[in-house]
Amino acid sequence: MQLIELSASPLSVPLREPFVIATATMTHTRAVLVRAVVLHEGVRYTGFGEAAALPPVTAEDQPDMLVSIAGASAALQGSQVSAQGIANALADVGLGPVASAGIECAVLDALSRARGLPLHRMLGSSVDTCPLVTDITLPIGDPAHLAELARGYEKAGFSVFKVKVGKHRADDARVLSALARAVPRAHVRLDANEGYTADDALRLLDEARSFGLVVECFEQPCARTRIDELARVTAEGGVPVVADESCRSLAELEAVALNRSAHAVNLKLVKFGGLGATLAVGRRAKELGLGLMAGAMVETRLGLTAMAHVVTALGGVDWVDLDTAFLLDDDAFVGGYEARGAELRLVSGPGLTVALA
Ligand SMILES: [Mg+2]
Repeated sequence: MQLIELSASPLSVPLREPFVIATATMTHTRAVLVRAVVLHEGVRYTGFGEAAALPPVTAEDQPDMLVSIAGASAALQGSQVSAQGIANALADVGLGPVASAGIECAVLDALSRARGLPLHRMLGSSVDTCPLVTDITLPIGDPAHLAELARGYEKAGFSVFKVKVGKHRADDARVLSALARAVPRAHVRLDANEGYTADDALRLLDEARSFGLVVECFEQPCARTRIDELARVTAEGGVPVVADESCRSLAELEAVALNRSAHAVNLKLVKFGGLGATLAVGRRAKELGLGLMAGAMVETRLGLTAMAHVVTALGGVDWVDLDTAFLLDDDAFVGGYEARGAELRLVSGPGLTVALA
């Protein structure tokens, strides 16, 4: 099939409230919307992809991606594309992983629409659906405010909270204490975004347990360069440690397994450069006996749907963290999935089934 159009436009969707993590604050998404059109037997099929930046977690940002994707468009437009060949073609163009992920997604969406297949089928899935029950993220903030937010989310059907920590351990403990009182039946997943020492991480885990909280896992407690500290939390923390910033490539995945610096890894499309690469990392992680989280940057329904198709192709993951569309003040897209409380159900149909709102 021929790629006859590849275009990029800013995708800046406001958040309901600032997204504050240990390393960044966001008020809008900083993504690029990629649109790909393929021609098949005289019919045009349009696909969409989200290149979601979250600097400094991602090296790329929206302005530079608008330029780099325009350059890739000049190189790729008019060429024959295939599901197997697009990743190689993108590697030849030399884009960063976030821009590559957006383009690959748009092309795969268009190709699967042309073939009349759900995208996860083109990725090799053998099932139609798999359980997709997401957590919901609480940013770093005031304990009373976060407790109130959590009560609202619980009423809306969420029972697992991903709690951002890692700036000040004592403040984080106050938040956990407030949550234990506000939503005592809830489970929590902690994410320090590299912010802690091993001592801080282990102490916060002890405090969380003393409040009666069930901690399902602890994501990236320490800096990715501090392998000794990560390995210590992994060995002594008593909960699964999930590598996120520490696992951005297949080589880093192998290092995580070798160093025993985590029990699991967080899969995100924009870290590995696309759906195919993310699927490969997920399959290799399973071979290595590592657990899997499915996550995203601050992404809209479009990016989350694409990741949900990868999860389906993997036959499910241990922890689903595909919640950021719930944090946005505006849904730029329709389709993809239907949300019932915390449960996401993929809409069946060709491609991603996502359309512009
Ligand atoms: Mg994370």
